[in-house]
Amino acid sequence: MLFSQLVEYYEKIEATSSRIEMTNLLVELLRKSPPEIIDKIVYLTIGEIYPPFTGIELGVADKLALRAVKLASGQSDKVIKEEYSKLGDIGLVGEKLLHKRSQITLHMRELTVQEVYQSLEKVARTTGEGAMDAKVNILVGLLSSATPKEAKYILRIVTGKLRLGVADMTILDALAILYGGGKEARELFERAYNITSDIGYVAKIAVTEGLDGIKNVKITIGRPIRPMLAERLSSAVEILSKMGGKCIAEYKYDGERMQIHKKGSEVIIFSRRQENITSQYPDVVKMVQENVLAETAILECEAVAIDRDTGDTLPFQELMHRKRKHEIEKAIEEYPVSLYFFDVLYVDGEDLTLKPLEERRRILEQIIKTNERINLSKAIFTDDPAELERFFHEAVEVGCEGLVVKSLGKEAIYRAGARGWLWIKYKRDYKSEMIDTVDLVVVGAFHGRGRRSGKYGALLMAAYDPERDVFPSVCKVGSGFTDEDLEKLPTILEQYRIPHKHARVETGMEADVWFEPKLVLEIIGAEITLSPIHYAGWGLIKKDTGLAIRFPRFTGRYRFDKNPEDATTVKELIEMYNSQLKKITESASS
Ligand code: ATP
Repeated sequence: MLFSQLVEYYEKIEATSSRIEMTNLLVELLRKSPPEIIDKIVYLTIGEIYPPFTGIELGVADKLALRAVKLASGQSDKVIKEEYSKLGDIGLVGEKLLHKRSQITLHMRELTVQEVYQSLEKVARTTGEGAMDAKVNILVGLLSSATPKEAKYILRIVTGKLRLGVADMTILDALAILYGGGKEARELFERAYNITSDIGYVAKIAVTEGLDGIKNVKITIGRPIRPMLAERLSSAVEILSKMGGKCIAEYKYDGERMQIHKKGSEVIIFSRRQENITSQYPDVVKMVQENVLAETAILECEAVAIDRDTGDTLPFQELMHRKRKHEIEKAIEEYPVSLYFFDVLYVDGEDLTLKPLEERRRILEQIIKTNERINLSKAIFTDDPAELERFFHEAVEVGCEGLVVKSLGKEAIYRAGARGWLWIKYKRDYKSEMIDTVDLVVVGAFHGRGRRSGKYGALLMAAYDPERDVFPSVCKVGSGFTDEDLEKLPTILEQYRIPHKHARVETGMEADVWFEPKLVLEIIGAEITLSPIHYAGWGLIKKDTGLAIRFPRFTGRYRFDKNPEDATTVKELIEMYNSQLKKITESASS
């Protein structure tokens, strides 16, 4: 097929503002496409050359592409620059400047789709030293044979700016019309796409094997499955009624979603958007190799950054360290992750996506060898709104975003690529950001692990309630301590050590060591949240909940100048909670 024929369709698609017409044009284009290259045509039409999960991208910078235009057109830097700032679209710049050249070029060879595709593939695959020059040379070669219109599209594709408005879903529509006929067929095409994430592959199967082939598309290790997603509601009662009265509720961990494919010792990790992120997580690869007891498997988990000394959950942002290539080794050391598995889609040749969740979870329990860093998502089965509500506050307090509540029963399959009511997320509607520090009293401690073994890993902190003359707990703090602090804290605290919880301390937590409330420390946190295990302001904001500080950190200030009764009071905490309360509008709409 000639590239000019493809470009003709691109011109028409670009010109239409009707979705129906766009689909019709695609149907026509796909009908005319030679079967052996239909996948390539599909990739080009969405501005790619491979499915995204391969990680091979064109992404040539405009600057580099302009260099190719300059060489192919023979124009000066000045002209190129002027045109680029005037037109703002590299495609149009190429089209205009190569037009001038084409008037003097008499014998141009006609480009085929295959040739263009192969050259673009070369551009994408050229790496290492001298890669930039090599990429420019390939492009110059292409542009020299291209008509101005062809050049426009080549340049847009190569810089990742094709923007015809065609998406995977539009192609699916066209394929279903062409090879399926009817709405029912569309679902089959969609499933084939959802379990392979590869629209080019689906097109190829459709053209070579027809509808039967599409029905037979199977889950394959190495091709990511598009993720199942949740709807959202904001009350436990509503959620339970939507779920038909009973559910499994799981912590909604605030980390990075991973879809892990394992085949023997080979492990591939895909992100929520089906990118291959294996290289960012060599530690996870190892954990999976050692703890997933299945030869082949596709599993889903949330990876959460944890404090290496206390094992506490850290905010999601700490995973960003993994995105910088040269810092990965350091990130593994400083921000290790814990994995919480919540689903299994495939095990040893068997597709589990159509099995009910309870069964998938049972299988998950059998194939995951749990330890401190690998576990199943914490879950409860419940039919009681009050219990669901308590579990929700518990989740928020330990650093989770809330819950993902999941449907039970036969219909609770894994619906790849769909956002539906089988999963409902229950996140907080309000958030109370902490802008001020608080002074809290040490009432207990937890033994340290790892680098902190033999010292305290975290302290249990309380506020003061003058009306009742008690010290209700508000958080467990393990962050912000220097090595020196960790060294001296056991000595400072030894004099206050008592064999059981102090009579004036109120908490739902079990500390390893208890203290008389004496030592006051300054603490800052991310926000004040409701909690079922910390007792400050118990029942005053909401039944069966107190207030807690989320992601607390020691500021470094010992308040030896303060008596425990001078600590931040419960009343102050309530005021802070109320005055800082604001609607989380952005997440409420997500
Ligand atoms: P959000 O920004 O709320 O995470 P989202 O669009 O990424 O939204 P949703 O389907 O709305 O995804 O919410 C589910 C997300 O929650 C999953 O993508 C996953 O990353 C995360 N998650 C954390 N814990 C769980 C769990 N136990 N089960 C399912 N998903 C979980």
